[in-house]
Amino acid sequence: MQYRTLGKTGLSVSLVGMGGIPIQKIDEARAEQVVSAAIQAGINFFDSARGYTDSEAKLGRVFGSYHAPGKLVIATKSAAKTKSEILKDVEVSLKNLRVKTIDLYQLHNVKDEATLDAVMAPGGAVEGLREAQTKGWIRHIGITGHVPEILVKAVKTGAFATVQFPFSAVEQEAAKMLLPLAAELGLGVIVMKPLAGGALSNSDLALRFLFEHPVTTVIPGMASVEEVAQNSSLGERALPLTPKEREVLEQQVQSLGKTFCRRCEYCLPCPQNVNIPMVFLLDGYYTRYGLQSWAEERYRAMERKAKDCAECGLCEERCPYNLPIRSMLKEASSRFDRE
Ligand code: SF4
Ligand code: SF4
Repeated sequence: MQYRTLGKTGLSVSLVGMGGIPIQKIDEARAEQVVSAAIQAGINFFDSARGYTDSEAKLGRVFGSYHAPGKLVIATKSAAKTKSEILKDVEVSLKNLRVKTIDLYQLHNVKDEATLDAVMAPGGAVEGLREAQTKGWIRHIGITGHVPEILVKAVKTGAFATVQFPFSAVEQEAAKMLLPLAAELGLGVIVMKPLAGGALSNSDLALRFLFEHPVTTVIPGMASVEEVAQNSSLGERALPLTPKEREVLEQQVQSLGKTFCRRCEYCLPCPQNVNIPMVFLLDGYYTRYGLQSWAEERYRAMERKAKDCAECGLCEERCPYNLPIRSMLKEASSRFDRE
């Protein structure tokens, strides 16, 4: 595994880190196997969030019995906006992760000016994280988000040591703005959604494309030992793409266009209980990867379907990618809800 320095934190982190979303979906025993396999494979950067249900606790089961202090770099995050709320969240994270200090605590999804103003204000979350630093609960403060303009404004305040944003072959806007700025400010760069939420099917090409950029760590979510083996081996050699491979990746990017779901789940919950990202995931398998019957079978098992959308528009207000979710659901429905 190759390692890079996480900006001014000085921490050495694996080029492939582990995103903490998918382990929510597997049971504790399997999560333990996956996390242990990741450590064995040289992955030392783990990223979770207070908002990822039991993800911190599942990681903590392994961290709590891992006796090599200083080897792992543990990151998590909270969407709390005030000092008191975030201090409470840090305490919960410490208990869940079963560590005395969290290496990196990030503000989770700072998505607009109002949120940025709130977290930076006196009595805001940044003040809380500074206090947590003084108490020795956390080492460094970072920020995550999907809206590049807001992240640019945030990192220019100098309050953050790292920045985390989505970057993939299909989503390069944020990187264009943030990579040069991160280099200038000495920030660690953590790449989320490297497979564009599963829209890019070939992790080999998708990750190696990212390694060619000045990023510190790329954190695909992993829910199986096989995925850990596959992704970590890519971080060992970090081979540049061949011209032919670049062409294949480019073709995939072209076929996706811009209007596709990254499965960030910010649109949920839907008042009609439509699992929006799941509908789009299955629709993607149906239309892009030729897995019609596979997708139809899974769609049939869903309790609420695309046709149950009441068109309230709530999800569209929440989607950071401004997707026309209602019309996309109608399209998916025309394929899946025919009978
Ligand atoms: S528009 Fe449809 S899918 Fe979106 S939140 Fe409303 S009911 Fe749910
Ligand atoms: S529809 Fe938008 S908010 Fe919902 S999961 Fe997809 S990208 Fe995220």
